[in-house]
Amino acid sequence: MGRLEPDPAHVRAAAPRRRRLLTQNSDLRKQGIYNWSIPAFAGVLPDGRRYNTCPSAGACAPLCYARQGHYRFGNVKARHEANLMMVLDDLPGWEAQMTAELQHKRYQDRWVRCHDAGDFFAITPEKPLEYTQAWMRIMRAAPGVRFYAYTKSISLFREAVEPDPPANFKWVYSLGGREDHLIDTTTERHVDIFPDEKSLAEAGYTSRAKEGCLVSVLGPQRIGIAANRIPHLRRKQGDKRFSELQAAQDECRRSRNNRKRHPRCAPPTPRKARPSRCPSTVKQTETTSPRPPSLPAPPADPAP
Ligand code: SF4
Repeated sequence: MGRLEPDPAHVRAAAPRRRRLLTQNSDLRKQGIYNWSIPAFAGVLPDGRRYNTCPSAGACAPLCYARQGHYRFGNVKARHEANLMMVLDDLPGWEAQMTAELQHKRYQDRWVRCHDAGDFFAITPEKPLEYTQAWMRIMRAAPGVRFYAYTKSISLFREAVEPDPPANFKWVYSLGGREDHLIDTTTERHVDIFPDEKSLAEAGYTSRAKEGCLVSVLGPQRIGIAANRIPHLRRKQGDKRFSELQAAQDECRRSRNNRKRHPRCAPPTPRKARPSRCPSTVKQTETTSPRPPSLPAPPADPAP
């Protein structure tokens, strides 16, 4: 699980609470969807606390659209950080405010997406289900509202959600994370990110772009999303889908754990404190030939 580090010693420079917690962009407005967002993946809050809101992120992390573009604009980043600080500093207060807000008539018969960025995470290692359980209570208290989520936190859902899910909550498991191996893609609803619409159709997946966001939880079992058009992310992803990149990472990890050399993971010569590199993080143009010592060291695995 990801680890957040709320430190009581920090002065809680509590961000002023916003009147509304849920937002809508123009695209979501057309579909009648409201959104709750926190920062994606790992980072540092303005008060110095470190966080990881995507505990099961894997191959998706370096390709994550929610860590690019307008998500990095100052006002957007600040709003997402303020949301996360609310959850970390005062989970009961956040739950109460969200519950109250959802009673408004504007949300009745509408959809709320939990996490446009970020995922269900553990606020503390001691209480890993707390945040998810708060969401479950919020949903039950708003039976006229429908909720949905994409998640890579499979084991957390197995424990906290699947045994007794709220009737107004639908979710879809998303490939490209460290818990992909827990998803039975032959029977469970899932999404995968493909290089483009063509490869998605060839694999027999239904396109989210053509059907709209809600098809991921209302449509068929296999939903495909074409990669974002951000050029450097497309280059990184190459011709693989997220599930394939994750499978390659998993294979590397297994090889390392077995203390075997993987031909594309292990560095050709032993160099002190140099992490090995998985194919999923290697540019597609790179070859398997030994890395000359003059080249910079490869980055560490993207996931925590
Ligand atoms: S889990 Fe989702 S939000 Fe988090 S890093 Fe992966 S793609 Fe981004």
